[in-house]
Amino acid sequence: MVSVEKARAEVLDGRSVAEQIKQEVAREVRQLPGAKPCLAAVLVGDDAASAVYVRNKIKACAEVGIESDQRLLPAATTTEELLTLISELNQRDNVDGILVQLPLPGQIEEALIIEAVDPRKDVDGFHPTNVGLLAIGRPRFVPCTPAGIIELLDRNKIEIAGANACVVGRSQIVGRPVANLLLQRHATVTICHSRTRDLPSVTRQADILVAAIGRPAFIGRDYIKPGATVIDVGVNKVTDADEARAMFGAEADKRQQTIRDRGYTLVGDVHPAEADQIAGGRTPVPGGVGLLTVAMLMRNTLQAAKWRRGL
Ligand code: NAP
Repeated sequence: MVSVEKARAEVLDGRSVAEQIKQEVAREVRQLPGAKPCLAAVLVGDDAASAVYVRNKIKACAEVGIESDQRLLPAATTTEELLTLISELNQRDNVDGILVQLPLPGQIEEALIIEAVDPRKDVDGFHPTNVGLLAIGRPRFVPCTPAGIIELLDRNKIEIAGANACVVGRSQIVGRPVANLLLQRHATVTICHSRTRDLPSVTRQADILVAAIGRPAFIGRDYIKPGATVIDVGVNKVTDADEARAMFGAEADKRQQTIRDRGYTLVGDVHPAEADQIAGGRTPVPGGVGLLTVAMLMRNTLQAAKWRRGL
């Protein structure tokens, strides 16, 4: 008989926390005086993954009672054309938040677009003004994925103050802002990246380990301190059924079926079967951080609406 090692990591479910946050937002939206908050969502081109992300955000708006204004532009859109649209949305009084789905097609200068969004409508928190405010410890709009990670830790009662936190990845949208937020909450923070020497020896010190790398199942057993909380931000497609079997332990059959049905299954940057054997808790993929990203976008849009109404 094959002995199956008992999984011990608690699964930190993003779905229930995201639902709680959306219900809180919906309650406040109902009580808000005046017009309903409105999120403008701009999608350029026909990238399938981006279309799904935008659809989920529009769906969430409907769930919480936020209006949405979806703008779909062709893949050949120029920087100037997109700047014109952003300028129009900045000026529209009924628009509280502007979301430009990234990545943009290669011919568009992404930095110019991000800087063109009115910082008071920048619900993604990517504008340099909002990035700067976060860096000096006076956050206004915080990027949604990092903000969602903090909510997930708080609502699972995982103590941040005093913890050794390690963030693998230093992107503007995840790694850097989540490191800043953890620092503000008094964690001792280490940021790692592709040039970090002996990465496992660094990540193994972490009570809270955040993986935002973009490499399937990269963070295995040797990277994780026993009992650590592991937050898996990565979203990667695995198409090989044997690869999936090695990654998913008890869930392997289900994941292999997903590959047969859809052609792929999603895996994070953390090796789920190995993390289950050593971590204290881990977020699943899907069903973890991604859902919180959308919930926090709703909260940022509500916040933008309140500020714009002087509340
Ligand atoms: P990114 O911009 O590509 O950054 C990846 C980071 O990982 C970089 O800082 C890179 O280091 C580092 N890295 C790459 N290989 C490494 C290695 N072998 N060892 C150590 N560090 C390494 O990615 P991102 O936008 O932050 O996204 C990361 C992942 O999160 C992706 O899978 C993405 O799809 C996912 N994501 C999910 C959500 C969500 O809502 N769930 C939101 C955003 C992103 P260098 O800086 O040295 O190159």
